[in-house]
Amino acid sequence: MLDRHRLVYVAGHEGMVGSALVRKLRQKGFNNFILRKRAELDLTDSVQTRDFFREHSPDYVYLAAAQVGGIYANNTYPADFIWNNLSIQSNVLKYAMEFKVRKLLFLGSSCIYPRMAPQPIKEEYLLTGLLEPTNEPYAIAKIAGIISCQSFNRQYGTNFISVMPTNLYGPNDNYDQLNAHVLPSLLRRFHEAQLQKQDKVVNWGSGSPRREFLHVDDLADACCFLMDHYDQSGIVNIGSGQDITIGELAELIADVVGFRGIIEWDRTKPDGTPRKLLDVSKLTALGWSYSISLEDGIRMTYEDFLRQPARARGMFAHDRSGDNQGA
Ligand code: GDP
Repeated sequence: MLDRHRLVYVAGHEGMVGSALVRKLRQKGFNNFILRKRAELDLTDSVQTRDFFREHSPDYVYLAAAQVGGIYANNTYPADFIWNNLSIQSNVLKYAMEFKVRKLLFLGSSCIYPRMAPQPIKEEYLLTGLLEPTNEPYAIAKIAGIISCQSFNRQYGTNFISVMPTNLYGPNDNYDQLNAHVLPSLLRRFHEAQLQKQDKVVNWGSGSPRREFLHVDDLADACCFLMDHYDQSGIVNIGSGQDITIGELAELIADVVGFRGIIEWDRTKPDGTPRKLLDVSKLTALGWSYSISLEDGIRMTYEDFLRQPARARGMFAHDRSGDNQGA
């Protein structure tokens, strides 16, 4: 069990995952945080990162700072995705080792697995085949992160654990039309279609790829659980163990938003990997399973979306690019 009074650093606390981690850690009794906004601390800068660790010496670190995005962003900014992610994690891992962090959790991604991996995907399928080309640079960076954690543990005796979350959604997500992941993109598209009384919505691809989705509050709960109970180098999948087609997801979102028009598919846009479902038996055997159903999670996320006044009116004054530190 982690000591609730020790100093916790959540890297990327402004993002969807990092902010969920801070909420969950507070609920679990942690009360001693060091948090730095991206504008205050650039983790791609090794000098700034070293000075931060030297000055504050956090005890526990959650590495949720990353450049993340959907299929379009990954395909359009491949150099940014590989360089920013490699730089952030190299700096944080090195200085976490050097300044004696007691335990660190590294957030990977389910896209580290081979494109044609057998389903559901077990942890041991890592590095057994070729990756999905649309997000290979991001996946390679995350794989380097996993191997870095394992190597630091082996050579320097650190306690760095790595988790592989499935597709996540929830509050503080990126709703940018081009760069976001599918769930927030669809939520926004159906919401705006509803506002503008459109009778048709066009989504990307064929609608037939299968994806698994997990609410970010469940992810944060699983991360806290593993920090308390897991001390090995082997990676751990975090998901619900259930998947649906993108077509079914669109129906579910249309239902939550109240859209009753026609749903069409633009097959000139890429589908990405045909299926991505994690095998979560390792996590289940350790004693954790998810609790927020996809339907409840989408409803909660839509309520949160509507709480932002500009969003509710269909106005996005500050659309972000794919560059969104906070995995
Ligand atoms: P992936 O899981 O890494 O492929 O990333 P995404 O979440 O971006 O996309 C998942 C699937 O949803 C792909 O098959 C996309 O073609 C499909 N999709 C349908 N409409 C959209 C959309 O508006 N935005 C995104 N990002 N994906 C969409």
